[in-house]
Amino acid sequence: MAAGVAASTGKKVLLCERMEKPQRKVRITGKGRCNLTNMRTGTEFLAKVRVGADFFRPAFQAFDNRQTVRFFEQIGVPLTVERGERVFPTSGRAWDVAEAHIRWAQQQGACIECHSRVLELLTRSGHIHSILVEQQGGHREEIACQAVILATGGASYPATGSSGDGYRLAHRTGHAIEPIRPSLTPLECGEDLRSLCGLHLRNIEARLWIDQQKVASEFGELEFLGEGIGGPVVLRMSRQSVDALIDGHRVTLELDLKPALSVEKLQARIEREMAALAPSTAVRVLAGKLLPSTLALFSLEKADIDPRKALATLSDREQRAWIHQLKAFRLPISDYRPFSEAIVTAGGIRTDQVDPQTLQSKRIRGLYFAGEVLDIDADTGGYNLQIAYSTGHLAGELKDR
Ligand SMILES: Cc1cc2nc3c(=O)[nH]c(=O)nc-3n(C[C@H](O)[C@H](O)[C@H](O)COP(=O)(O)OP(=O)(O)OC[C@H]3O[C@@H](n4cnc5c(N)ncnc54)[C@H](O)[C@@H]3O)c2cc1C
Repeated sequence: MAAGVAASTGKKVLLCERMEKPQRKVRITGKGRCNLTNMRTGTEFLAKVRVGADFFRPAFQAFDNRQTVRFFEQIGVPLTVERGERVFPTSGRAWDVAEAHIRWAQQQGACIECHSRVLELLTRSGHIHSILVEQQGGHREEIACQAVILATGGASYPATGSSGDGYRLAHRTGHAIEPIRPSLTPLECGEDLRSLCGLHLRNIEARLWIDQQKVASEFGELEFLGEGIGGPVVLRMSRQSVDALIDGHRVTLELDLKPALSVEKLQARIEREMAALAPSTAVRVLAGKLLPSTLALFSLEKADIDPRKALATLSDREQRAWIHQLKAFRLPISDYRPFSEAIVTAGGIRTDQVDPQTLQSKRIRGLYFAGEVLDIDADTGGYNLQIAYSTGHLAGELKDR
């Protein structure tokens, strides 16, 4: 986006891409469908930008979600708005978004060089004057320039090319970096959840506890993974969880597996199910009527109830303990999954060193920043790509105040 906008204003633009093709990450976004923005109103949109929203506002106002939609439709990518105001290409292919965007930038006059990794930003008297680039085969070249837009992404999914180079490049030119950590990342549980692996729960309420305090709650989908728990509700709570774990706090996820039923209604439902079953039926059969079978067994185990036990012998205390598990199923969180599994990177180039109206560095003239390399990040739902598009568009204007 930045390269295309800069080229469209008549600048001679070289886009250095270290991988064999640009936009590898975009091609895998939204499970290969690319949720490229979100149509919520400006205020609602900015509320989803959890860090750096004030800094981001001018870039968003200059090129917002509606302009992004118009832009992609104009360059030949028809779009569809789905549940939660999320916008996807109608074709369902993230690949189409990436290819059309690259073609457009080239049509504006940007020259794209792949296998071209920027190693150093060279400055003199507080002004950028060239970059050092390593090409395929290890050949190094210094390229003179009047301006550089650093849009190297974060440190998550490094196999896509964004392995954190931008932080080093910015740091070496005197910029402070807010410590980076994985965000929108699955969490690991202190209990053995292998028996639940592959289970996908919809319509559950998850509450996040840090030490003795409930700090967030989310409603939606959750997945039990090979090594931890993921899915939208967990990802949305992961930023707070990661920070709390780093600071040494106790983190617990509490799941309401039956949020539509109050404790009383759940009790009545269980009594109805029990009445319809023979007294000798094993408790696991009853549990299986309310939950997927693996989770049913797990919940009974957590309530300390033998699943083979006959319904007739289930005591009131055991019933109450089980209902408690259904309404407040607690999972101690022991760790978070690494950058290789995180959707975005929290932290990055500190925004107080960057002019929000131009995205030019306040330290180095001619150096601009765009995208995830900045200390801005948002929830899932198309917000992070919009951050990249808005900041890329503004930085591409190469305004000098
Ligand atoms: C699995 C996954 C799914 C996602 N799904 C969504 C989604 O559906 N919606 C959404 O809004 N967000 C999504 N995101 C987040 C979104 O993809 C990123 O926030 C966004 O791509 C950031 O854009 P960027 O241009 O700043 O960085 P990137 O897209 O990471 O691009 C940075 C580019 O710079 C190149 N580069 C890095 N260092 C150098 C160097 N030294 N020299 C030359 N080139 C270099 C990289 O190769 C890369 O091509 C997803 C992320 C992941 C990992």
